[in-house]
Amino acid sequence: MAITIALAGNPNSGKTTLFNQFTGNHQYVGNWPGVTVEKKEGTLKGDKNVHIVDLPGIYSLSPYTKEEVVSRQYLAEGTVDAIVDVIDSTNLERNLYLAEQLMEFGVPVVLALNQMDLVKKRGYTVKSKELSAQLGVPVVEISALHGDGIKECAAAAVKAAEEKTAPTPVKFSPELEKYLAEIEENIPAATPDNLKRYYAIKAFERDEVATAELQYAPDVNRIIIEAEGKFDDDAEGIITNERYRNITSFIDKVYKRAILSGTTSEKIDKVVTNRILALPIFVIVIGFIYYIAISTVGGVATDWANDGVFGDGWYLDPRPLVGIEGSQDAYDEVAGEFDEAQSEITVFIEAGAEEGIAGADTLAANLEAEEDLDSKALTTFEAAAKQSNLTAEYVPEDEESGELLTDDAVEVDSAVFAEALTVEEPDPAEYGVWIPGVPVLIENGLDAINCAGWLKALILDGIVAGVGAVLGFVPQILILFFLLAILEGCGYMARVAFILDRIFRRFGLSGKTFIPMLIGTGCGIPAIMSTRTIESDSARRLTIMTTTFMPCSAKLPIIALFAGAIFGGSGMVAVAAYFVGIASIIISGIMLKKTKPFIGEESPFVMELPEYRLPRFVDLLRSMWERGWSFIKKAGTIILLSCILIWFLSGYGFENGAFGAVENMDNSILATIGSAICIIFAPLGWGDWQATAAAITGLIAKENLVGTLGVLYGGGAGLWVNLAAAFTLPAAASMMFFNLLCAPCFAAMGAIRREQGNAKWFWASVGYECGYAYCIALMIYQFGSAFMGQVHPVGLIVAIIILAFMLFMLFRPAKRKTPAKPEADTAAEAA
Ligand code: GDP
Ligand code: MG
Repeated sequence: MAITIALAGNPNSGKTTLFNQFTGNHQYVGNWPGVTVEKKEGTLKGDKNVHIVDLPGIYSLSPYTKEEVVSRQYLAEGTVDAIVDVIDSTNLERNLYLAEQLMEFGVPVVLALNQMDLVKKRGYTVKSKELSAQLGVPVVEISALHGDGIKECAAAAVKAAEEKTAPTPVKFSPELEKYLAEIEENIPAATPDNLKRYYAIKAFERDEVATAELQYAPDVNRIIIEAEGKFDDDAEGIITNERYRNITSFIDKVYKRAILSGTTSEKIDKVVTNRILALPIFVIVIGFIYYIAISTVGGVATDWANDGVFGDGWYLDPRPLVGIEGSQDAYDEVAGEFDEAQSEITVFIEAGAEEGIAGADTLAANLEAEEDLDSKALTTFEAAAKQSNLTAEYVPEDEESGELLTDDAVEVDSAVFAEALTVEEPDPAEYGVWIPGVPVLIENGLDAINCAGWLKALILDGIVAGVGAVLGFVPQILILFFLLAILEGCGYMARVAFILDRIFRRFGLSGKTFIPMLIGTGCGIPAIMSTRTIESDSARRLTIMTTTFMPCSAKLPIIALFAGAIFGGSGMVAVAAYFVGIASIIISGIMLKKTKPFIGEESPFVMELPEYRLPRFVDLLRSMWERGWSFIKKAGTIILLSCILIWFLSGYGFENGAFGAVENMDNSILATIGSAICIIFAPLGWGDWQATAAAITGLIAKENLVGTLGVLYGGGAGLWVNLAAAFTLPAAASMMFFNLLCAPCFAAMGAIRREQGNAKWFWASVGYECGYAYCIALMIYQFGSAFMGQVHPVGLIVAIIILAFMLFMLFRPAKRKTPAKPEADTAAEAA
């Protein structure tokens, strides 16, 4: 017979780890509370009939967080055959508080004392037999992380489920029990017997969310008021007190903590969470990680992916990785000589054509058409040029960046020209094992099957250029995820949450805002969902509105593209994007906290700092791969479709009065649409239709921006050169930050809509994000241009006004809402 076992417990007690052990299903294991917001399901390894559900982490069964409500409803539904309460044994008292509540569902409960490895390491004592006798439920000692006691735990849960022995709920003081018994009589008769006590307690606590699940709400207010008078406390407080009194009455008999002086973790924390050092250390750590991922290791890998795999091709030669010259260098040298010769030939012929030298025109036409030089014309030209002493000049420039390599022009005369003609184009295959790039292979393949011209263009210029531009960033992203997984796995990220909580609270923000921010560096969607852990409604809405300011993985290609093409490949751009994200959240928080919908105090954020530990290599790889794979998957689906669409919209349109493939992209459909709205972005410095179209496609998925630019400006190395030519420094910075800060992709907007719960708040969120991004981008462009000596008077004045307004919002004193006021407000509304 099929049975269902639910894993319940405090956040970070190890539910997901145990779940993975039970099911063999792999999931992401994090360190901060709130990652497990969704219910996860699987079947027990070796027994398909045992269904396992991983419930969200909770401290209690009150109605204050969505996690609590979700868990309660699920447990009260009656589909669960046994609850495994996963307990962090290094914090037994706090965890038993939940355990006693779980015992009230009339469902068999097994206590899994987890983290026993830490208990032993720290020299604590836990007497599980005594605990089991005390509470009357089976108790198993396990270590989910190390896989100890897993089988025993599963066996105990299955046995409990089959025996169906419901635990006897802990008895409160006789006085309270008397009131509860009275209330129980008022619980609707249709309620299952085993849940009557649970609902009686909930009714006593005035928990309307719970009593709404009943046939009708019991009329017990008189009893509650009497009890509150008797105990001189509010009803909820009475129950809480009684529960803790019960736990303290026996805890000393079953649990002893060793008094430890300064574990290694504590010593590290003295430095890492130090009031003065914490923030600089955090900045350095994050800076270092982005530096490695974007500039050094990741940069090399991404260059290889962009120029090699998705470019012409690459050498199978590991020597350059360790700094030794390899095949590529040997080839580059010869190829450089060839390019130089080609330039010499070109300028010499062009000069000849200008001077009207015989044969030059024919040769110039050959060059234009990229064909071999006509040999007869060449002979004529060489002789004539020599006779008239023709010379030409050119300044060598770097092919990719367009930078001049020297100040001195190179002089070309007949002798140089003759020698240049003898330089042959090198064949890459002669310099080592050469692997052609994906575009080359595909092009050859398409040629071989005589593919139709338009289809070839679609595949090469649309799909390969667009999807390739996005996939080229996979190495950087994988490296970044790997490094972030180390920070999470070792426990440092939990410290970061703790450090930033101190800062955030000073600005009146919820410290819990930081959890979604952290998750947001991966993806905005789980980040928005994790805001459910924030109790205060206004703080939660505020966090949903601002979380996606963080650069998620999809925004990395945008950052990397701009960093590489415009800002000289600086890893600092990525670090800047990260901190601009954090700053934007803080700035928005401070400004919005002073507006009516958000006024209110924040609850402090309680969080245990887990011990530092060495992350397991497989966990790091798994975490890296899971996040990286979803990125790759997106490139293969939504981005592929978008690239096809963009290719079509940018390649087709009305030209010369007829619809069809356009010669000039400015006549395309995309140009028409983009041109109609690009005026909006003119004050930001990038009001051309290409950039506008890219920003719009970025709403489908942020990586699309790069894909679209790849289609519109040409893929491969050409993209960088063309971008650099198209934008000034301030315009590029403005465009990058606008796209990083404006509304996220549609999927994340969907999450915002779901979590905000109504259309009004959804539009307020998206509107605020776009408005904020617009203001910041406008200031970047206007102040940046003015700084570089290019003043646009109207724009600059607008920028100054925006700045002044923001400063006013930041520094004006906050109005404090007095506790009595909101009640007066609602009373007035109700009247
Ligand atoms: P959840 O929030 O309850 O799902 O907890 P997780 O399963 O995500 O675990 C939180 C953290 O505790 C992770 O870093 C785990 O690696 C760690 N953890 C889980 N079980 C154990 C254990 O038995 N011993 C130790 N030392 N760490 C554990
Ligand atoms: Mg979990």
